[in-house]
Amino acid sequence: MSFDKTLSLARLRWQIQHCTKCDLAKHRKRSVPDNGNFHSTVMAVGEAPGSIENSTGYPFVGPSGQFLRSKMSSIGMDFDSMFITNVCKCYPPNCRTPTYIEQSACRGYLIHQVAAIHPKLIVVIGGTALNAFVKMSRITSAVGKLIKDVPFGSLLVDVFPIYHPAFICRRQKSIPEYLRQLELLATII
Ligand code: URA
Repeated sequence: MSFDKTLSLARLRWQIQHCTKCDLAKHRKRSVPDNGNFHSTVMAVGEAPGSIENSTGYPFVGPSGQFLRSKMSSIGMDFDSMFITNVCKCYPPNCRTPTYIEQSACRGYLIHQVAAIHPKLIVVIGGTALNAFVKMSRITSAVGKLIKDVPFGSLLVDVFPIYHPAFICRRQKSIPEYLRQLELLATII
């Protein structure tokens, strides 16, 4: 990893850990900058930390992350080989969806993370993450399909939307479809 990339990710981590741009800062235990493989050219972007992430400071280490990890590893994929982050870096109380204001306050961090990683692909996890890249009212028509050349910050990025694992956890009958989306993802990374 280049010195510049290491430095800019470290600087971002510090800024996120000390951020007071929105009211989520008042209630958090820890902010949650990133996790996974910083050398990776694949990013995974979720919605916002859950309560375990709020306690540990790492994204996708709670039940949703474990579920996604297990589904990926069942088809030979390694979630932790990706650079993992969220649209919002702080826990929204009671796991609610972050508001537009909260998402906007955090947007600069995501733009800078994407610029530092320069990913060849971004796996967007769930509707909130998809909307941070592509405005769509429903994720259903987009999941499992590669969307190329999405303008984001000063870059064009390719994104691959998948359902949020918390949604699939509640709809076990959708697991086979979920695995098919992940298999497709495995063929393009
Ligand atoms: N944990 C995260 O870090 N992000 C999510 O979107 C859900 C759980």
